[in-house]
Amino acid sequence: MPGRLVGVSVDEDGQQAYRLALQTREQHIRREKATSNICTAQVLLAVMASMYAVWHGPKGLKSIAERTHATAAVVADRLRAGGVELVADRFFDTVAVRVPGRAAEIVAAARDEGVNLWQVGEDQVQLSCDEVTTARELNAVLRAFGLPGDIESVPRALPEPAALDGFGRTSDYLTHPVFNSVTSETMMLRYLRRLADRDYALDRGMIPLGSCTMKLNATTEMEPITWPEFGALHPFAPVEQTEGIRQIVRELSDWLLEITGYDDISLQPNAGAQGELAGLMAIRAYHRANGQGARTICLIPASAHGTNAASAVMAGMKVVVVKTAADGSVDMEDLAAKVEQHRDTIAAIMVTYPSTHGVYEDTITKLCGLIHDAGGQVYVDGANMNALVGLAKPGHFGADVSHLNLHKTFCIPHGGGGPGVGPVAVRSHLAPYLPNHPLAPEAGPATGVGPIAGAPYGSASILPISWTYVRLMGGEGLARATSLAVLNANYIAARLREAYPVLYASEDGLVAHECILDIRPLTAATGVTVDDIAKRLIDYGFHAPTMSFPVAGTLMVEPTESEDLAELDRFCDAMLAIRAEVEQVASGEVSITDSVLRHAPHTAVSLAQEWPYAYDRQVAAFPDGVDPRAKYWPVVRRIDGAYGDRNLICSCPPPESFED
Ligand SMILES: *Cc1c(COP(=O)(O)O)cnc(C)c1O
Repeated sequence: MPGRLVGVSVDEDGQQAYRLALQTREQHIRREKATSNICTAQVLLAVMASMYAVWHGPKGLKSIAERTHATAAVVADRLRAGGVELVADRFFDTVAVRVPGRAAEIVAAARDEGVNLWQVGEDQVQLSCDEVTTARELNAVLRAFGLPGDIESVPRALPEPAALDGFGRTSDYLTHPVFNSVTSETMMLRYLRRLADRDYALDRGMIPLGSCTMKLNATTEMEPITWPEFGALHPFAPVEQTEGIRQIVRELSDWLLEITGYDDISLQPNAGAQGELAGLMAIRAYHRANGQGARTICLIPASAHGTNAASAVMAGMKVVVVKTAADGSVDMEDLAAKVEQHRDTIAAIMVTYPSTHGVYEDTITKLCGLIHDAGGQVYVDGANMNALVGLAKPGHFGADVSHLNLHKTFCIPHGGGGPGVGPVAVRSHLAPYLPNHPLAPEAGPATGVGPIAGAPYGSASILPISWTYVRLMGGEGLARATSLAVLNANYIAARLREAYPVLYASEDGLVAHECILDIRPLTAATGVTVDDIAKRLIDYGFHAPTMSFPVAGTLMVEPTESEDLAELDRFCDAMLAIRAEVEQVASGEVSITDSVLRHAPHTAVSLAQEWPYAYDRQVAAFPDGVDPRAKYWPVVRRIDGAYGDRNLICSCPPPESFED
């Protein structure tokens, strides 16, 4: 099942709690057996759609649908009465008509009136109505057909007989209480506010998730996407109406090419994993064009992000895993052996640089040479570009193709799951195989592999965020940001190293833009797990770091350049305070089952209830360093993961469960 599956479980106090079921990341567990490579998705857009449903409710949606259909029916009637033949009598919002030989002329006439119609070949025109279509627009359409535009107002009720007769929905929908309880703008405002208050977002504090790059999404960068000039553009609007966004696409493409050292780029992929798939498809097409279609092996180091293996399989490749050496780098001996074993069938290697172990590997150039000598291509996963921008170019150190995550390094917000932009950049020999689009020849090479997303430029409306970031920072600013990101990660590694061993570092003890804290020795000695530490961090007012990836039993921390010294210290102080709590377990002073770690996090409600714990309430909710006036209160306690896994059922709770 693609995407993420949300299920219902219970927390430590027996309260209902939602959680991501089947673990959060299917790919990280199942790797090349995963059935989907989707990681960053379109969650924010789904949330927006759900809020539309909350606001309008089932009745509102129905009246919108009726108005939409009635509007389409009115224009269809007028067209029919004017002698225009409808392609179908049954329709909802979209009316298609036959106008032999006149399609281009009618579409052009409508465009002169400010309305874009859809042309299907020489003989057919199609138009769609919605709840904001006006009589003025309908009249412009009628005039384009050479008919009198005399509709006075759009109808609000269904026509009789409706073109929908016999197809109307009879079952209930949106029965959950939330779709039936918001009845005023004030209530809607408060509902949204209540949800936002439950969230731990970057506007509260640091999100130290590794391999995620949760950096500042500056308001200045975000503002332009609210302008209708970007936000209300249709992806298939005529070229001459979209010069502004095209300029953004061109300039951003050029800047990204300069940053990465590649020769060509496509902004079409909607996320990093989609960029991976596009890049691997380009590699496949390149091999085929050279009579090397048998090259289907994709070498992937054990440390790779879970999407890598899933994307390789989707691109029709077979995954062969390369081991990790003791220092966390790619095991060059194992790599040489695998290359030898598969010499004639290697399509590519997919490596992440700097690796997901948080180190710059000085063997990367050698690795590229080894693969090229065997006739393979090098895919460098560029999601970790935050450690490279302005300092090194993958297109110059030997890679053939990379994707970037504009929703990590280039400031597009992605907390909660997207939307993203995952451009795929290539050297010139792969450029003919970039994505293209059958409806937009200018969006890619004629020889391309076809579309990888529905729209020619993917999530084009959010590109102004990255454009603004690069434009504001300039070359020097970007290089400085990278240096600070690396410095911040090293600061954390240095402050925490004695309390928590840093799993991988270079010979001089330095890490790249993130570091892995090894919790396994503590777990072995005390029973305190990564979960205990991650949950306790919530009591201290932090989002957890990345847990058990890429190494089980560890925490991966990526501070980014956006956190200042005070916030880095607040995080390190919390981690050290937690280490002291672990020490109480280690010394036998408290048992792990009685410890504050095991029962974290603590909700406000739990403090007001009977208190069965060995530690006091102050320790639970206001440990040292927590400002009571700025306390983040979680709304659920520790969630029972096993219960959730065993109760994997569709569980919109029945209305009764909300009664009191
Ligand atoms: C985030 C990430 C990906 C996946 O990118 P999505 O946009 O989530 O698909 C791939 N590789 C690495 C190293 C990443 O950090």
